[in-house]
Amino acid sequence: MEEIQKRDIRKLSQADLEEFFLEQGEKKFRAKQVYEWLWNKSLKNFDEMTNISLSTREMLKKYFIINHIQVDLMQHSQDGTIKNAVKLFDDKIVESVLIPTSKRITACVSSQVGCSLDCNFCATARLKRMRNLNADEIYDQVVAIKDEAETYFKRPLTNIVFMGMGEPLLNYSNVIDAIDKITSSDGLGMAPRRITLSTVGIPKMIKKMADDGVKFNLAISLHSAINETRSRLMPINDKSPLEELGESLRYWYEKTKRKVTYEYVIWDGINDDEQHARALAKFCKIIPSKVNIIQYNPIDEGEFRQASKAAVEMYVRILESQGIIAKVRKSRGQDIDAACGQLANKNEVAELVKI
Ligand code: SAH
Repeated sequence: MEEIQKRDIRKLSQADLEEFFLEQGEKKFRAKQVYEWLWNKSLKNFDEMTNISLSTREMLKKYFIINHIQVDLMQHSQDGTIKNAVKLFDDKIVESVLIPTSKRITACVSSQVGCSLDCNFCATARLKRMRNLNADEIYDQVVAIKDEAETYFKRPLTNIVFMGMGEPLLNYSNVIDAIDKITSSDGLGMAPRRITLSTVGIPKMIKKMADDGVKFNLAISLHSAINETRSRLMPINDKSPLEELGESLRYWYEKTKRKVTYEYVIWDGINDDEQHARALAKFCKIIPSKVNIIQYNPIDEGEFRQASKAAVEMYVRILESQGIIAKVRKSRGQDIDAACGQLANKNEVAELVKI
């Protein structure tokens, strides 16, 4: 008998599944049942689909597999943060993080294995980009953290940020599919305004998101509003300089009327002077926005050092004097390398990620 190449069933939409069942001479509504098991209930094998007959389950097994992620290693930080090393079906590893505060439990998820962007202050950049995550692999990271929130904190997951490994706008369609499932009542039913996509800022894709009418929040990793400095930190800025980024943000705001958040690290001797602070304040005037000043999480002994408290205060003073909201964010999970930019910091993980 001819060997059937089994497909990842979660790559099929509900309409695809309906078509499949009809082709097999089965009823269309089976698709909805199976879809609910796969997404809403996150089942990992066909045998648990109790309202599906044994013969139909066997038929599904013949054609499909369920590529579920596996949490390989879970590390707990002293501050409550949990980092998951997540093993994918091809044994590659990504990381995701649960961040608890008194008001929220946030899932920080990865969108790619490694990253292609070479931001030179970020640990993930040291792993070259190996592949995009599928929508179900992104979705599963959220489900794993939702379960951990319930198990360890007895609280629901409240927020999701795409601030793990990878650049979400370079894996756009899978990220959007995952968000559709996360927000749909067939999936997790979470409100889009509780989701934030963080990007280095790829103008063409920011415009596409605006055209697509997305309802989630947008954060831009800015780090400098002066081209020369930003290009030094983030080579992508050579391809898409600040003028182009600003223009795409104007387009975003016109279409969505949603403000944007700028993520900003202040480094000693790099962007800790008044000129940089004033340039940031000016950039913030392009569209309604706020600034998250994030603490630098050292990734080695390297050239980057967190700026002084006085420099951070100078930034806040200048931004606030111009009516811009600036929040200074404390870092979380540093002791387990779970903080921003530290994912894949440890050699063990780099080795686990099979190239
Ligand atoms: N590629 C996306 C999402 C991943 S990074 C993006 O760049 O936005 C998530 C955030 O962590 C970004 O704002 C990034 O600039 C920041 N970051 C990276 N390395 C860091 C470090 N060592 N310390 C603090 N923040 C860092």
